[in-house]
Amino acid sequence: MDKVDCVVIGAGVVGLAVARALALQGRDVMVLEAADAIGTGTSSRNSEVIHAGIYYPQGSLKAALCVKGKDLLYRYCAERGVGHDRCGKLIVATSEAQVAQLQAIREKAVANGVDDLVLLTREDARTLEPQLECVAALHSPSTGIVDSHGLMLALQGDLENAGGLVVLNSPLARAECAQAAIKLIAEDGTELEAKTVVNAAGLHAQHLASRFAGLPAQHVPPSHYAKGNYFTLPGRSPFSRLIYPVPEAAGLGVHLTIDLGGQAKFGPDVQWVNSPDDLVVDAARGDAFYAEVRKYWPALADGALTPGYAGLRPKIQAPHEPAKDFMIQGPNDHGVAGLVNLFGIESPGLTSSLAIGDYVSGLL
Ligand SMILES: Cc1cc2nc3c(=O)[nH]c(=O)nc-3n(C[C@H](O)[C@H](O)[C@H](O)COP(=O)(O)OP(=O)(O)OC[C@H]3O[C@@H](n4cnc5c(N)ncnc54)[C@H](O)[C@@H]3O)c2cc1C
Repeated sequence: MDKVDCVVIGAGVVGLAVARALALQGRDVMVLEAADAIGTGTSSRNSEVIHAGIYYPQGSLKAALCVKGKDLLYRYCAERGVGHDRCGKLIVATSEAQVAQLQAIREKAVANGVDDLVLLTREDARTLEPQLECVAALHSPSTGIVDSHGLMLALQGDLENAGGLVVLNSPLARAECAQAAIKLIAEDGTELEAKTVVNAAGLHAQHLASRFAGLPAQHVPPSHYAKGNYFTLPGRSPFSRLIYPVPEAAGLGVHLTIDLGGQAKFGPDVQWVNSPDDLVVDAARGDAFYAEVRKYWPALADGALTPGYAGLRPKIQAPHEPAKDFMIQGPNDHGVAGLVNLFGIESPGLTSSLAIGDYVSGLL
């Protein structure tokens, strides 16, 4: 049986960032990826926003890793020539009642170390974005967008330059955890022994962890999937900054994001589904977008939106349960030497990826 020092399962942005961090520590790293390319999971089905770290509870991993990850990511993109734009975003109050929510969001942001938010009057906001309708807005200058595929290619390049390796078409079926090493068994029966294993399988992380013999079942949270559907707008974007309503229960509200090519899209909405493979956009859901978007962009024309794509949030809480933090479990949490499981790495996982890499390599 072949022996490897570290195996990371999953070549999404998080798995690649963790693998890179371990390889830069001088460890021998192999990434096993089920698909025939890197980054075909949630990492290619998101808004590509570099979040500032505004909304998350103080002291949470989401808050700490997003704020740190944002700084690391801007620096990394600049150094490695990864496409990005610090375009900024506006969070808009569309009723008087929501103005108090903007104040609360600003206070939460300050508690997380994000102290650059500026409260704007309607007139100030419209000077920045003439097509915007609102009562007031919060401007976040450190929010931006990133080319997620360019980022993943750069991470893979760093990993390979440090001697690491990505092995595609290699779905892992199960593992047997022992004190000295972890035996990994691929779906085709191939066996591999590793001292360190990081489960970064995204939507499949819980299912996989439940097939790790030796890992007590109470350490594997339930899986829930909240689909986010996007609808695209043809032509030039009417806004040059990202536009967000005040947040909803399970997501950030139907917001407008722009990609690096200048294409605008609205979404993602929140649709709880039962399967990690349910990625079809139901065109009828677009009907609900018009009223939401027109609250801040009344000029949206009838029939202007076309179905785009969908991504699934890997949730560890059921619908109507309060939002949960990233769950990153190392040996001290579950007692299995050399194993780290990453569960519930939903947004802001892309922004946090480099910081998660540092955090996980620190646990090992
Ligand atoms: C709708 C939506 C919008 C989002 N917007 C943003 C945003 O704007 N900004 C932000 O910071 N974050 C955002 N996120 C979150 C971000 O996309 C994720 O946190 C991040 O992509 C997670 O990366 P990952 O590597 O953990 O998972 P994934 O990208 O899903 O990668 C997991 C990989 O594991 C592989 N795999 C699974 N099972 C196995 C197995 N048994 N063996 C081998 N390989 C396996 C899969 O094929 C996949 O490639 C968004 C998420 C969603 C759903």
